[in-house]
Amino acid sequence: MIGRMPVHRLLTIPFVILLAAGIGCSRAGSGKTEADAKTFLTQANDTLLRLGVEWNQAGWVQNTYITPDTEAMSARASEAFMTAATNFSKQAPQYDAVGLPEAERRQFTVLKNALTMAAPADPKEAAELAQLVASMEGMYGRGKYCQDGESDEACLDVEEITEFLAKDRDPAGLLDVWEGWHSIGPPMKKSYARFVELSNKGARELGFSDTGAMWRSKYDMPPEAFSKELDRLWSQLQPLYLSLHTYVRAKLHERYGDVVPANGPIPAHLLGNIWAQDWSNLYDIVGPAQGGARTSLTDELRRRKVSPTDMAKYGERFFTSLGFEPLPPTFWERSLFVKPRDREVVCHASAWNINMVDDLRFKMCIDQTAEDFTTIHHELGHDFYSRAYAGQPVIFRDSANDGFHEAIGDTIALSVTPEYLVKVGLLDRAPDASGDIALLLRTALERLAFLPFGLVVDAWRWQVFSGEVTPENYNRSWWELREKYQGVRPASARGEEFFDPGAKYHIPANTPYARYFLSAVLQFQFHRALSKTAGCTTPLHRCSIYGNAEAGTRLKTTLEMGASKPWPDALEALTGQREMDASAMADYYAPLKAWLDEQNQGRPAGW
Ligand SMILES: [Zn+2]
Repeated sequence: MIGRMPVHRLLTIPFVILLAAGIGCSRAGSGKTEADAKTFLTQANDTLLRLGVEWNQAGWVQNTYITPDTEAMSARASEAFMTAATNFSKQAPQYDAVGLPEAERRQFTVLKNALTMAAPADPKEAAELAQLVASMEGMYGRGKYCQDGESDEACLDVEEITEFLAKDRDPAGLLDVWEGWHSIGPPMKKSYARFVELSNKGARELGFSDTGAMWRSKYDMPPEAFSKELDRLWSQLQPLYLSLHTYVRAKLHERYGDVVPANGPIPAHLLGNIWAQDWSNLYDIVGPAQGGARTSLTDELRRRKVSPTDMAKYGERFFTSLGFEPLPPTFWERSLFVKPRDREVVCHASAWNINMVDDLRFKMCIDQTAEDFTTIHHELGHDFYSRAYAGQPVIFRDSANDGFHEAIGDTIALSVTPEYLVKVGLLDRAPDASGDIALLLRTALERLAFLPFGLVVDAWRWQVFSGEVTPENYNRSWWELREKYQGVRPASARGEEFFDPGAKYHIPANTPYARYFLSAVLQFQFHRALSKTAGCTTPLHRCSIYGNAEAGTRLKTTLEMGASKPWPDALEALTGQREMDASAMADYYAPLKAWLDEQNQGRPAGW
């Protein structure tokens, strides 16, 4: 997304309906000159800055003081920004034939690839498309499961269902609730099929073969090449995933008996998460006896009475140790660190750069836990990134590709190691290696288990947008992909009377998903490269770049580029490699893989 703004809000902002009807693209013989192109870019940068700042301001107030009025103000500001961005995207092709210096040409490229949905030029169809997405999002947002179809009081919303699947251990109850949540899908199916038709029409008017191709065009390579890239990256990680899958399936088989087959796909409702995308809730079933070091950091933070502000100061010190400027005084005056007692706020952690220059903020309801300590480092990664690229034109004030922003924050979080905690005086001494497997398993259940799901969501949509999958086999193809990549299957038959993809937010909300997969892979590549620069010789999960100026310089150089160069340039500046490389994640988890394979001896693998 361009010229934007509160970093890390992708999951929380309602997707705004883009109505840009009537702005057609007139490619041929546009008669535009270089001067016209420059005027256009100036106008685009100025407008997106002005509207972006307004959206940030309204969004910040809404997030830290939820009322119907602040929600309305924020929605208006967001719509104004998105409409302007859509208009600029749609006008950009008029300048395709104009000869321009590289920096300006790239601004047009970024603008043209900024849309996730293109409205058809026909105003009636554009209005219908907007209405369809709004209604599907509404259906998801209002989605509930009412046991026995009872009155409202007996209904579970998505948060309650999430909680239930995380904690409950009765297979029958889990299946009931899992099926219950998936009942929100079928009413969306017809709308989704029509949405695909119309959004494809809009994408074709812009010169893309379909909406999926439009999404894949953001990555500085042909759309087909990008799909192949993802498959290549996955092939680097599949053996590691298989080891985890084999181990978890065996533990679940021990726990649940034949409900979990010894050698087939795992039933989707037993993995602790609605979409089986994060297995960390299974730690009590699959974890080894010793707990690892995280609990002791939580204890230390409490014992030492480290306040939320002080926890944030530790995070800041991580970055200044790398050579970044300290956070501005306004950061400390304007951020929200503690849940207020007198009003509703969005507690989900996020990082902001309100004026898109240096008005950095941070919003999080901090608890004294190891988890929140790590999250602080992650969120500050977003803030330092957005300040680093503030010297770029507004159109380039974004990460190198959409996987980078999250990956930078997570890279920093990977450096929150026991050794780092010792250096900053939060632990007296680092625990020995005996707790490492527990620590690695804990993060693998989250990050490694996620990978195949991170591929499935868009693999399915790309086939749907291209017409390879039609409404007659939406559900079958969804489950084929889930089984192929995740090794997961539904517990009961899921025919075409269901629409299970609709039970995942990003599908009705039309939010691309490949970025989450990219981010998961890139963060380990970044971590490995920076650790090497910092001269770390221990296993990767014990490496921290804290205090290393050389690693800091590499990081800073990359962050300052923003989106001004194709992402392989940014990747090269950071890692010396021009290709994404998932072998770093495999390296990081190599000790875990060895342990898993030992546990798995004699067990069947695969499905
Ligand atoms: Zn983030």
